[in-house]
Amino acid sequence: MRIGIDLGGTKIELIALAKGGDTLRRERVATPTNDYEATIRAMHDLVVRAEEALGERGSVGVAIPGTISARTGLVKNANSTRLIGHPLDKDLAAALGRPVRVANDANCFALSEATDGAARNAKIVFGIIAGTGVGGGVVVDGRVLVGANAIAGEWGHNPLPSPSHAEVPGPDCYCGKCGCIESWLSGPALARQYKDATGRDLIATDIAAAAANGDAAARMIMEQFYDRFARAIASVVNVIDPDAIVMGGGLSKIDTLYRELPERIMRYAFTPEAPARVLRNVHGDSSGVRGAAWLWREDELAHPA
Ligand SMILES: [Zn+2]
Repeated sequence: MRIGIDLGGTKIELIALAKGGDTLRRERVATPTNDYEATIRAMHDLVVRAEEALGERGSVGVAIPGTISARTGLVKNANSTRLIGHPLDKDLAAALGRPVRVANDANCFALSEATDGAARNAKIVFGIIAGTGVGGGVVVDGRVLVGANAIAGEWGHNPLPSPSHAEVPGPDCYCGKCGCIESWLSGPALARQYKDATGRDLIATDIAAAAANGDAAARMIMEQFYDRFARAIASVVNVIDPDAIVMGGGLSKIDTLYRELPERIMRYAFTPEAPARVLRNVHGDSSGVRGAAWLWREDELAHPA
């Protein structure tokens, strides 16, 4: 069996998957606060409990909100500071006495949807997580594209393509640049755009609902949002030409995205022959933990290295 662990800021979730992907077990515990050793111990204990209950040993993959640097072997870019600077894969491997694979949670999302989700059977998959931030991951032939700096797919901090005069220089981003895709397309960014236009506070999904119900300001904001989203995706399409684009995160609940984005992306991309395939995720919040389990492929399970 495969064991996946999703290490989040508030909870750690384990899933055990049978060979074909059926769920054998799930367990969640609270993430120990500001204690790295306790976090390793909590993941270790989850695995031990699952294997005792199921009477079987599993491969172990972990999704983290960050990446492991290929240069240093240490966690970087994590929004949870207690993980930064630790060799998390090696420490958990030592605790469990077996190799452990660790990947960014957006990459795990893309892998889950590419393996047995919305984009199963697609060769090149771009997974987008859009919610409080905007991230992404790329899967090719069932493997995560990690990259030399382990940032492949992190399109959220590219500048918004083809900006109008009014879109320059764009909002400040926490990364230190301005006009980042994330600073235009995240849920909080959409809420801010609506508030600037109307003075009213609405969250992103409610703005989309208001637009559907005929609120003129919400419609204008959503039109701009679709157009910016399409420009941002088209620049990725021109680089990796994905067979499928899968949406995850809180904004993936906005139904109109799946209708509005494909034609608009086609308009901005180079020589498209058909509208882009923009798909809603199948596994929802479980994609991170399922993707972590899928970090071990079938042909690697017999001789894990
Ligand atoms: Zn940025």
